[in-house]
Parts: sequence; C-alpha cells; structure tokens
Amino acid sequence: MRRRFIMPDAFDPDREVIPTPGFGRKIEELQRAGRYRTAIEDILRILDRDPANQEALFLAANILSIPRTQQLTAAEPLTDALTFDRRLNPVWAVCQQCERSWVPNSVHLGSIFGGAQLHIMNPIGQQCPTCGYTLCHECLKQIPLGLGMSIYSHPCPQGCGVDLTAPVHPTGRRNLQFSRRPQRVTHVFIFREGPIQPDTPYIQAFLETRSPDVFESRPKIFAVPVGQWPDDVDFYAIAFLLEKGVTKEMIENWETGTIIDDNGTKVHVVKLYASR
Ligand SMILES: [Zn+2]
Ligand SMILES: [Zn+2]
Repeated sequence: MRRRFIMPDAFDPDREVIPTPGFGRKIEELQRAGRYRTAIEDILRILDRDPANQEALFLAANILSIPRTQQLTAAEPLTDALTFDRRLNPVWAVCQQCERSWVPNSVHLGSIFGGAQLHIMNPIGQQCPTCGYTLCHECLKQIPLGLGMSIYSHPCPQGCGVDLTAPVHPTGRRNLQFSRRPQRVTHVFIFREGPIQPDTPYIQAFLETRSPDVFESRPKIFAVPVGQWPDDVDFYAIAFLLEKGVTKEMIENWETGTIIDDNGTKVHVVKLYASR
C-alpha cells in the first residue's frame, strides 16, 4: 500500500483550493492583531460544515505555526483545547518514533496563497517520499551515523530503498480529544490507569483540554482509578457502569475512547448523552 503512514484525511498541499470570498482576509486580520483564539474558532466553524476545507486548514496551519513565545504575549493566545482539537488533525505531522507532532512547513509551500512567509517554529523532520514514514528532528539526531553519513541522510527504515527527505507533508495525527455530539452530555466517567484516584484539579484540566464540550452541559462526572488496565476496556467500563445503576438504554447512547494523557498515562472516557 502506498504512503501508508499518511492518514486519509491528512492535508494535501497539492490539492486545489477554492477560497471563500473575504474569509482569508478576515482570518489574516485577526492573526495580525494577535487574536489567534477568535481566528481558530472561526476556522473551526467552517471545518464543522466542511472538514476537509483546504483554505480553512491552510489558515489554521498558519496560526498553529506561530511560535509559542509569540503566542504567549498575544492578545489571545491559543489554548491547548484549541490546539488539540480533532478538526485540526489533518495539518499535523507526527513522528513515528516518539509521537511528537508539529505543523510542517510544506503546508505553506506550493499553495495558491502567494507563498505566505512565516516563522517556522519547528526544526525540520524528514519523511519517506514513498511510504510517508516520518521522523522528527530529535529522533533523527539519535540514529547512529555510519562513516561519512550526515543526520540528513538516512534510508527509510521501512525498506522502501529511498532516503528520508524534506519537505515533510502532513501525516495527520491521532486524536488528542474525544469525539463530540450535538446532544447534551449527562454523565462522564473517567477511567485512569493506576491506583490513585484522579483528583478534581486533574479532572478539570483533563476535560478542559481533552473534552472541552462537556462543560456546556454540566454533566455528572465520575473518576475511577484502574489498578490493572483491562484488555477490553469498554467491557470493563460497561460492567462498572451497570454496577453503578446506569441502564442499558443509557449505555446505547454513549461515546467512548482511550487516549494517553500529558503524563503518559492511559485514560479511558465514557460520555453518556441525553436521548434527546
Ligand atoms: Zn521523534
Ligand atoms: Zn518508506
């Protein structure tokens, strides 16, 4: 299979762009004023209707490429909740070795936007032009070098017979947030790996970045330490919920997913939705 490390929804810089009149200018003005949060929120509204909108993804990539130091002094810095948003997954590239992700500058090349000039915050990674296998700068530096080799000359470890090279195209990234639905969330169950009961500051910070939509509906929230992580965590969760008096009908209307939190710990979340 060709380019198997590139997710199907990844941004393709070569695809044709059909701009929405006035939209690009509006976002650029917000960006110039340092209003990154409002700009990304406007972009997300477009991606809600049209997840692959090439112009919106390009404009998002511009903003996500702004260095952190410049962000922090802006009128509206980006929050993690926005940076982690699933709708922005297509513009990121992910290192296959360490899972570090960045917005590669190839997004800005070959576009019809007049080749906007940007500060590129990320050191350059490399990618296999055949299969899309991608390594970040840090991981490239750690590969032992043979005689006369430089860190920029490595054959693809997948056996494609070509060297890793730049530019890196977006690969898409794994979900950093849980999916959302338009209905109201009634209950949230947070199962965290390890024997320690997750405390309120953890839960608050976790949901703010990983599932910010739940705060709109003020659900009941339960946090559960899971000493021995089960093979089938959904099965484990169902047993737990039934024991807590949640009905089978309520479970039919759920959304679940597992992610790794900022500390590298597994967290499984179950969201129950109101039936209407
Ligand atoms: Zn890496
Ligand atoms: Zn390859």
